[in-house]
Amino acid sequence: MARVADRVFNFSAGPAVLPLPVLEKAQDELLSLPGVGASVLEISHRSKAFDKILENTLSNLKSLLGVGEDHEVVLLQGGASLQFSMVPMNFLAGHSGEANYIVTGTWGKSGLKEASRIGNSHVAWDGAENGYDRLPVAEEITLSKNPAYLHVTSNETIQGVQWQALPTFQNVPLICDASSDFLSRPVDISNYGMLYACAQKNAGIAGVTVAVVRRDLLSRSQEELPSMLNYQTFVEKGSRPNTPPVFAVYILGLVCEWILKDVGGLEHIAARNATKASKVYGVIDSSEGFFRGHSSPASRSIMNVTFRLPSEELEAAFVKNAAAEGLSDLKGHRSVGGIRASIYNAMPEEGVDALCQFMSDFKSSHG
Ligand SMILES: *Cc1c(COP(=O)(O)O)cnc(C)c1O
Repeated sequence: MARVADRVFNFSAGPAVLPLPVLEKAQDELLSLPGVGASVLEISHRSKAFDKILENTLSNLKSLLGVGEDHEVVLLQGGASLQFSMVPMNFLAGHSGEANYIVTGTWGKSGLKEASRIGNSHVAWDGAENGYDRLPVAEEITLSKNPAYLHVTSNETIQGVQWQALPTFQNVPLICDASSDFLSRPVDISNYGMLYACAQKNAGIAGVTVAVVRRDLLSRSQEELPSMLNYQTFVEKGSRPNTPPVFAVYILGLVCEWILKDVGGLEHIAARNATKASKVYGVIDSSEGFFRGHSSPASRSIMNVTFRLPSEELEAAFVKNAAAEGLSDLKGHRSVGGIRASIYNAMPEEGVDALCQFMSDFKSSHG
């Protein structure tokens, strides 16, 4: 049987590392949930046992995010990618205005493309010119005349650029793809028309997507929408219009519990994440140009650290040697190249320390 000692430090961008206590609890409960005599994989999604799992997951999400009366939390399927379509289907179709997108990287661009299939879209800013290495400053963002909403990507997973404070405009609902920095820091949910995130980066496993939707926006969804693509269906049916991805919901619940009880909440996880990121960027910045960060310093992501080495040969050697030392999945996305170290919530500080040591050693022997 595999043991904890067999585990590597996994820098995968997603699906990604999970907190060890979460894996252990899931392992422990896999043959039988306490008092149930069967696994969560084997019981009805209408059973009392699953009622409890779903309720706990939703209430822990609400308390972590500070969700009040104005917003609904729903669990969806189809990944963040289906939200690229559901957002304009629900909030643009039938609206007289335009869907506005700030495109800060690959994911924002994908969202824009889907909105354009549904209705009028407008690019409020696009960082393609600089290879998506920075965020816009306020003066660079230009909204259309009658915005149906403004869509942003809080953290661009592939390029490694992340907003510290999202832009807000009065009377324009802000819709945020937070897939890769969900639950990584406190958020002020009152700023959002909608915030959504797939679980498999920072909050669990693939199969479930969380959406926090402001109630007043729900009335925009039109009657003729297929019911499984209408947010109202998920609100009315308590995220259970059909069989939900029960295991993914269960793991999401365990991750929320881990953040609340073991870590002590989002303030604490944010502090940990900031420390981890500053260590890696510290090595980059003191490397005299051997490591070159992709994103400009003010736009740096604390979740996905992207950087280049002096040559592609060195980058390949870096990835290979790191893997041999138990530091896995450091290869950057093909569109950016180089190295990407994803240091999500569940990456322990020891993993980051091991990476920093490896980087320094690699520079010494190849610099
Ligand atoms: C991974 C990711 C997506 C795509 O998620 P899927 O669940 O695979 O559809 C979208 N946006 C961001 C920011 C991501 O990191």
